[in-house]
Order: sequence, then structure tokens, then C-alpha cells
Amino acid sequence: MATGDTKPQKEASEMTATVNPTLLSEIKKVGAFDISACFNCGNCTAICPLSKEGEEFPRKMIRYATVGLEDKLLSSAELWSCDYCGECTKTCPRDADPGAFMMAARRYAIQKCGWGKISMYSSKTMFYGSLAAISLFLASIIFIFHGQISLGNVDLFSFIPMDTVDRAGMIMGAFVGISAIANLIIMKKYLSKHLNGSSSSLNARTAYSKLAALGRVIVDEVAIQKSFHTCTDHNRYWAHILIVWGFAGLMVATTLDYMIDAYGVPLSMYLPRDLGIVAGVALVYGSLYFIYKRIEGKEEYATFTHFTDWTFLILLLVVGVTGFLLDLFVLVDNAILAYATYSLHLIIVFDLLMTAPFTKFAHALYRPLALWSTEYSQTATSSALLQEAVAKTV
Ligand code: SF4
Ligand code: SF4
Repeated sequence: MATGDTKPQKEASEMTATVNPTLLSEIKKVGAFDISACFNCGNCTAICPLSKEGEEFPRKMIRYATVGLEDKLLSSAELWSCDYCGECTKTCPRDADPGAFMMAARRYAIQKCGWGKISMYSSKTMFYGSLAAISLFLASIIFIFHGQISLGNVDLFSFIPMDTVDRAGMIMGAFVGISAIANLIIMKKYLSKHLNGSSSSLNARTAYSKLAALGRVIVDEVAIQKSFHTCTDHNRYWAHILIVWGFAGLMVATTLDYMIDAYGVPLSMYLPRDLGIVAGVALVYGSLYFIYKRIEGKEEYATFTHFTDWTFLILLLVVGVTGFLLDLFVLVDNAILAYATYSLHLIIVFDLLMTAPFTKFAHALYRPLALWSTEYSQTATSSALLQEAVAKTV
């Protein structure tokens, strides 16, 4: 058993847990499902390709939400395991849409893990207001601190000088880094209420187990996304992984470009340019795929799209497209269009990164942490049981 609790212990802890009577209605605000129709048959858990013994979802999550067990829900690592393939929704006899429920519960968890109660999901005004404020902030920095506008010969680093890029980058990096760490600490506290092993003393063996589990999660779930491959059709898998790698590739290309120009790092200028082109194609393809699927609305996972998901996809697409346009305008030496596109590109990237710890982007951190904690907890539980068995034998 993953949690190490016996059944009576589990029932007792559920009975003593704090109940939030408005939990289900709060989750409903950030999704579209009808879990009140659920009659607890368990079809969804049986059909889910990722659910396994000891980590049953989505039925267990649905139960927590319907009875208001907020702490139980937020401390469940399983919340982050779902890849929203929609299989459970397809087979639900009550049309309760458990897949959409899982996505909404995850948005709710992102909301609850935000430090300082920052919540991008609380309303459309909050969501678009935050994006508008961040855009305005960066646009003002570009407007006030821009350098020379050379119309004859496009020079992006003269238009926005290095120290401006440095300052804006430092503000963004500090905010995003601090927010991500603070949110992960909040999430870890939730997870620790539920999982074993997290509080075991750190010695060489536990440190090694933790590092090995972390390595496996990074390779399997971040780099190649094995479980996503297991649970969904291959086209969707490739579109998803191209978005992840495409965005990461653009970040690396931009950093290399900056290092070469600003600090004279001895690398060929072709390296960031070629990497940028490949990564841009990947990002545009991946985001267009999901936009098309959502417009088509045939697949279970694409029948409802939360407005924040629409915005996220459109912003990703704009990042990719403006990246290509920028290359084109630099190539043809059209300074006005190049500087305008460059500004728009930077503003959208800034929007995505500054809000990342509080939006869908955050699952890129929460999911590995949840899977890592689960994996480590299972390893710790198994070795504790093994040690106990050996001690009894001796
Ligand atoms: S399949 Fe539908 S009705 Fe059955 S437990 Fe899952 S959500 Fe409820
Ligand atoms: S959407 Fe797919 S992965 Fe998520 S709970 Fe349903 S069947 Fe499992």
C-alpha cells in the first residue's frame, strides 16, 4: 500500500479531517463537469491506463471532492498523475466527465499552492488583468529604456541595450524563482501529510534513493514523458512533447544568442539560430495541433477548454510565430517591423514566464515533485518493510 496506512487508519483519518463544504462548488468554478451525477461505480478508475493499486484515481479524488476533504485532495500525489486522455469520461455511464474533473481539481490545487494567495484562476478579470499589467510593465521598460532605433540596419541589441535586458531578466528571474520555490514548499507540505518516507532521516542510503528516484522521474516523466505516451494517442503525445521541447529549445537558443552577443562567448552564431528555428517549428506545430483539436472538439479531452488553456495555447503560438517573423524582418532589414515584432515577442515571453508559477505551466514543476515524492515514498516503504522482515527473521 503506497501510503502505508491500514484501512481502519485511513477511514479514521478521513473522519477527523477538516471538511470544506464548499469544496466541490469551488472546483466547479474552474472546470466543466457534473460529478454530482457520479454514483461511484468505479468504471473510471478501472479504465484509466495510469491508475494503479494504491493510487486509484479519478474515483478517489471525486470522493474527496464530494465529501469536502480538501486536505486529502490536495495531499494526493495522484492528482498530478492524470494526463487527461479522456478515457474515463468516454466510459462514464453518468456523463459525469471525470477527466474534466481531474483537470479542474488540478487548477484548484495550483490556486491553493500559490504563495501569498496569488490566484490566476480566481476570475477572468484577475487572469487577464495580471497579463495586461505584466505586458504594460515590460512595454513601459522597453519604451523608456530603449536604445538607438537604427532604421537602416537592424540591430536588436542596440534597440534594447544589454543592461535593460539584464535588469528586466533579473526582475523576472527573481520573481519566478522565488515564487516557484515558495509554491513547491506549499505543495510539498500538502504531499507530506499523505506520503511516507518524506520525513525519514537523511543518510547516505536515503539520499541515494531520493536522487535515484529524482533521476528516474526527470528522464521518464519530464524528458520523454513515458506515462503520457502510455495513456494517449501518439499524435497527441508528440504534439505535447514538441511544445515542451520547443519552448525549452527557444529558451536555450535565446540564452546562447545573448551570451554570444553580450559576453563574446566563443560559439558560432549559427548554433542559436538553427536551434531557434527547430525549436520554433516544434512549438508552432504543437500549439497549432492542440488549437485545432480544441476547435474540432471531437476528442473527449478537447470538448471543453477552460479560457486559461485557450490563452496559454494562443500565447505559445504567438511566441513561435513572432520568433519566425523576427528572423524574417531582420533578414530583409525592415527595422520598424523587426523592432515591433521583437517587443511583442519579449512581452509575450515575459507574460508566460512571470505567470508560470500560477498557471497551467506550474504543473511542469508540481507533477515531477508529486511523482518523485510518490516514487520515493514507495521505495522507502518497501525498504522499511524489508528491514522489518529481516529483523523479524533474525
Ligand atoms: S465512471 Fe462516472 S459514475 Fe462511475 S465512479 Fe467514475 S465518475 Fe462516477
Ligand atoms: S483522463 Fe485519462 S489519465 Fe486522467 S483519470 Fe481519466 S483515464 Fe486516467
